[in-house]
Amino acid sequence: MPHLIIHLASNALLIGILHTIQYPIGMYGILLLVLANSIDIDHFLSQPRFDPHRCSIQAHLLHTYVAIAAYIGMVFIPATFWFGVGAVQHISLDMLDCYRMKKVRGQRIDK
Ligand SMILES: [Zn+2]
Repeated sequence: MPHLIIHLASNALLIGILHTIQYPIGMYGILLLVLANSIDIDHFLSQPRFDPHRCSIQAHLLHTYVAIAAYIGMVFIPATFWFGVGAVQHISLDMLDCYRMKKVRGQRIDK
């Protein structure tokens, strides 16, 4: 659950930044940006469904490098731009989380 809160908070931060610089996003754009977090639905295909020590990247269907390439491609298509931005933002946070987990594991091994 804190994972989802962090993703939604980062969405809110991005929307706030866009609003501050007066970039036109619109309600449909905001909806697509937030809806991009639904890519975490692939966690239901995994066993166990939730593992706080598992890196999402490459572990879930919608978090594979092929899917990530598709999200990046969406950024270049006007109709899917905001979903692509939201998905890339989501994946970026997941990658930071993976980096943090690996760093923590590295510190445990060193002790
Ligand atoms: Zn995710």
